[in-house]
Amino acid sequence: MGNVPTTVKHCLSYEQLIQDYPWLRHWLQEKTITGHEYPEFVKIVEVGPRDGLQNEKEIVPTGVKIQLIDMLSRTGLSVIEATSFVSSKWVPQMADHTDVLRGIQRASHVQYPVLTPNMQGFQDAVAAGATEVAVFGSASETFSKRNINCSIDESMLRFKEVINTAKEQQIPVRGYVSCALGCPHEGHIEPSKVAEVAKRLYDMGCYEISLGDTIGVGTPGSMLKMLQSVMKEVPTKALAVHCHDTYGQALPNILTALQMGVCVVDSAVAGLGGCPYAQGSSGNVSTEDVLYMLHGMGIETGVNLAKVIDAGDFICNALCRKTNSRVAQARGRTP
Ligand SMILES: [Zn+2]
Repeated sequence: MGNVPTTVKHCLSYEQLIQDYPWLRHWLQEKTITGHEYPEFVKIVEVGPRDGLQNEKEIVPTGVKIQLIDMLSRTGLSVIEATSFVSSKWVPQMADHTDVLRGIQRASHVQYPVLTPNMQGFQDAVAAGATEVAVFGSASETFSKRNINCSIDESMLRFKEVINTAKEQQIPVRGYVSCALGCPHEGHIEPSKVAEVAKRLYDMGCYEISLGDTIGVGTPGSMLKMLQSVMKEVPTKALAVHCHDTYGQALPNILTALQMGVCVVDSAVAGLGGCPYAQGSSGNVSTEDVLYMLHGMGIETGVNLAKVIDAGDFICNALCRKTNSRVAQARGRTP
């Protein structure tokens, strides 16, 4: 708070506040600590190397992707989404998926899921050494058609084949539901539709369902309604949230999800990414900012924030760009 006037600093100091108004202590603790039950541990699913980099227009060298994943593997993260086995015709940035997956130094405590939209992708992923995969469905019919070229029903048939084969090979499958809080084509998405798609993926055998605010339009209000609807169909422990920060709502949306018992959060180092099919969507919420918030709340993640900031510095230098992480920006200015 270098240049902040003393009066403002005074107002911002919790300790000072308590000293001036002792009666506030009870109220603040009621609201901030016992008002909501937060999870003790939150699992972070790092999606930067895939969701983040896939939106880069310039092809990122394979060696840079591998080094980024290797740096992230040493931060304490337990899940790093490594790449995507989509057709290189659709996403040229991920054409080097096999080389990336074979090139990384796998840490024993880390899972490296990869996206597999269909059987071809699944087989290629397994051949390249994938031990966990993810399928991505949509709560929006139009987004599904434009993003993966098929209706929601057709996509479920494809996923069923992938999931059944994965089960036979004891490969865990994660499921995504995109457009959970809004669609670039349809606008509002009914929470019941999100719940329906999430349930179908869960019933087919996905062990975890990540609810994606693909274009970052959600608010704590819409997050609450959507989760209330989904939680009627899928156990809370199997849910994750995946927020983009287009409207600056990602952290409050995540906080809302935590208050409702969700304890898995997707995020991307340096807030990389966006979505090639969602115009104007800015990056994923940054892993650094999520960690800062969680650790400040006393929630454990097992992840070292300073090491994630280092990984963020590395990729931002490689891409010649400024980090989207507010925490990394603030830390950069602190001597
Ligand atoms: Zn995303």
